Amino acid sequence: MNDCIFCKIVNKDIPSKIVYEDDSIIAFDDINPEAPVHVLIVTKKHLTGINGVEKGDKEVLGQMFLVAKKVAEIKGVKDSGYRFIINSGRNGHQLIKHLHMHLLGGRDLGPKLVA
Ligand code: AMP
Ligand code: ZN
Repeated sequence: MNDCIFCKIVNKDIPSKIVYEDDSIIAFDDINPEAPVHVLIVTKKHLTGINGVEKGDKEVLGQMFLVAKKVAEIKGVKDSGYRFIINSGRNGHQLIKHLHMHLLGGRDLGPKLVA
């Protein structure tokens, strides 16, 4: 867990452009944005990904969605539309093994979910 880059961002050991933060969630701009708005919504608790969540994590999982709505408002894409993505495992190209949701918007994202 010590060399987890998102834990380091949670602990403010490395900088990020924070969009929103509360007790259980931090949201910050993706360093390599794929749309005009590209925010990562990250649990403060180190969960490895969707495969790592359990019943006891229900509250923080719900909070991720509430924060997503808030981030969409803050970034001004609430009405124009946006997309959430959670990558998982090899085929899902999950790069960072700490649960995070991508929020993308600010342009037409196209109708397709896969390349
Ligand atoms: P995923 O493939 O779902 O694991 O996506 C990981 C995301 O984290 C990628 O979109 C990266 O651009 C992003 N990322 C990696 N390092 C940082 C960082 N230090 N600050 C912000 N975003 C990052
Ligand atoms: Zn972590």
